[in-house]
Amino acid sequence: MTAIITGASRGIGAAIAETFAENDINVIINFLSHEWEAKALRDKLNTKAGKNIAEICKSDVSNPEDVLRLKNFCNEIFGECDILINNAGISLQKLITQTTTDEWDRLFDVNVKGVYLMTNAVLPEMINRKSGVIINISSVWGISGASCEVAYSASKASVIGFTKALSRELGPSGIRVNCIAPGVIDTPMTQVHSPETLADLCGETPLCRIGKPFDIAEAALYLAKADFMTGQVLTVDGGII
Ligand code: NAP
Repeated sequence: MTAIITGASRGIGAAIAETFAENDINVIINFLSHEWEAKALRDKLNTKAGKNIAEICKSDVSNPEDVLRLKNFCNEIFGECDILINNAGISLQKLITQTTTDEWDRLFDVNVKGVYLMTNAVLPEMINRKSGVIINISSVWGISGASCEVAYSASKASVIGFTKALSRELGPSGIRVNCIAPGVIDTPMTQVHSPETLADLCGETPLCRIGKPFDIAEAALYLAKADFMTGQVLTVDGGII
């Protein structure tokens, strides 16, 4: 089995890569700017496995040529992609009145167009094989909406719509499409928040803690194996929404 995990140099994507490799799934670790972290993760996973189970590939998921190169790299190294994890994402904390058109466009280019491009890159081989799994990483803010994160919330709501529609289109081809909506998870993305804001978010969470990247990785592994699940949004948020 082989998985492509976008945005796996750190945070949630890195935890998914580690969990999948520990379960004997080959992983392509995609990254954009954190090459050193991606290489360190690859080396750690290969050493742990005692074989070549992980490889890295730099690509911008919003760029069609980069995406095709990533998919072809996977084919050369491990063969066809069985599991696509659309995890790469960026966030923006701004009032909508202060959000520029360029910021809006970049957010949707990475968070939404990236999901569309990556999905279309792997689909021909999945449809041909009549099997495949696609897991998209949305957010609880894509369900409930978050103040000062309107553009981000809208992009993540779009990922949920994409997941639900695609699951209906691809079910007859034996391909399952699901989505995870994480709550607040301790990654570099959330380090933009002040300690006070993080303490408030923790206080609003019934399980009284911020999530760990491995909380999401466990859910991704479950969805990768859950043969009768498609079109679902699995909320992993300690109960915050
Ligand atoms: P993170 O720590 O900021 O990591 C983001 C990852 O995405 C990095 O590996 C980054 O690569 C990659 N990336 C960004 N833009 C990219 C692009 N254009 N092409 C390819 N890769 C790109 O974020 P995270 O917290 O792990 O978030 C992962 C996903 O979970 C995102 O979709 C995020 O929206 C979602 N999420 C996070 C939380 C949370 O609380 N952390 C909650 C809900 C949903 P480089 O670092 O190499 O550039």
